[in-house]
Amino acid sequence: MHELAIAESVVRIASRQADGRRVTKVQMKVGYLRQVVPSALTFGFGLVAEGTPVEGAELQMEQVPAEGRCRGCGVENKLGSLPLQCGGCGGFDLEILKGEELMVESLELEEA
Ligand SMILES: [Zn+2]
Repeated sequence: MHELAIAESVVRIASRQADGRRVTKVQMKVGYLRQVVPSALTFGFGLVAEGTPVEGAELQMEQVPAEGRCRGCGVENKLGSLPLQCGGCGGFDLEILKGEELMVESLELEEA
């Protein structure tokens, strides 16, 4: 399960940055193209966080829609489905501008 591997790296990053304090909230950005199932990621996060400083933290995900610029006609497209296709000319050769994000954006830590 791909979400479990993502959850492991999120918990690892958050634990390291927390530097001994408890994490109460983790905010992350998840691009559409990552094909992450939010409920599966939340579930995996809960499992992996057990016994770490991240245990019990809330996971907030901001979904980033996909955007791409067509290499054929230059139109910028908001991409809502796969396969990725240009709305201007119907081409499939798109430079991805957004939608591949997968990062921990911020943490909230318990007051020391
Ligand atoms: Zn195009």
